[in-house]
Amino acid sequence: MQKIRLAIPLQTDSIVDGPGIRAVVWTQGCGHHCKGCHNQETWDFHGGTLYDIETVKQDIKALENHDGITLSGGDPLFQAQACYELAKYAKELELNVWCYTGFTFEQLLSMKEKDPYILKLLEQVDVLVGGRFELSQKSLNLKFKGSRNQRIIDVPKSLELGQAVLIHKYDQEKAWTQKYQKPEFLYI
Ligand code: SF4
Repeated sequence: MQKIRLAIPLQTDSIVDGPGIRAVVWTQGCGHHCKGCHNQETWDFHGGTLYDIETVKQDIKALENHDGITLSGGDPLFQAQACYELAKYAKELELNVWCYTGFTFEQLLSMKEKDPYILKLLEQVDVLVGGRFELSQKSLNLKFKGSRNQRIIDVPKSLELGQAVLIHKYDQEKAWTQKYQKPEFLYI
C-alpha cells in the first residue's frame, strides 16, 4: 500500500494556510534548509510517521465545512507521487488545493523529466506558494507567505502559458495602522 511520510496527522480547521477553512497535510522531509525556517523538525526525511495514503484519504473524506486542503511541510514536492494522489482525491471531492514548496515554479518545471509526478501534482494544484524562505526578506505583513521573494502562483494559468502567473491580490504587503500593531492581532 502506498505511504506518505507526515510530520503530524491531517490538521483540520486552519485559517492561515490559504483562504477559507483548510485541512493541512504536513509532509515530513525538506532538503532546502532555509535559514530561519520555523519548521526545522520537519527537515528529517526519516522523521515523522509513515501513513497509508488510504488513511489520509479517509481523513480528507471525513472533512466537514472545509474549502480545501493545503500541502505543506517539510516540502511536499519531495513526495510528489503521494501528494499527487491526495491532491487528485481532494479535487474529486471538490476541495481546492494549495501547495507550499521551497522550489520555484521554474525549478519544478525543469525537474519534471526526473520525476513525472511533479507535473502530475502541479496539474492538480490550484495555487502554489513557491520559493525558499529568505530570512533577509521576512515580513510579518505578508499574506500566506513568510518572505517577500516567495510567489503565490495561479498554477492552471501558469501551466497553460508556460510561465509563472502571480495572483496579485496576495502580493500586497499589509500596511498596518497603529491600532493593529499589537501581537494579539493575527493577519489572515
Ligand atoms: S522550504 Fe519551508 S520547510 Fe523547507 S527549510 Fe525552507 S522554510 Fe523550512
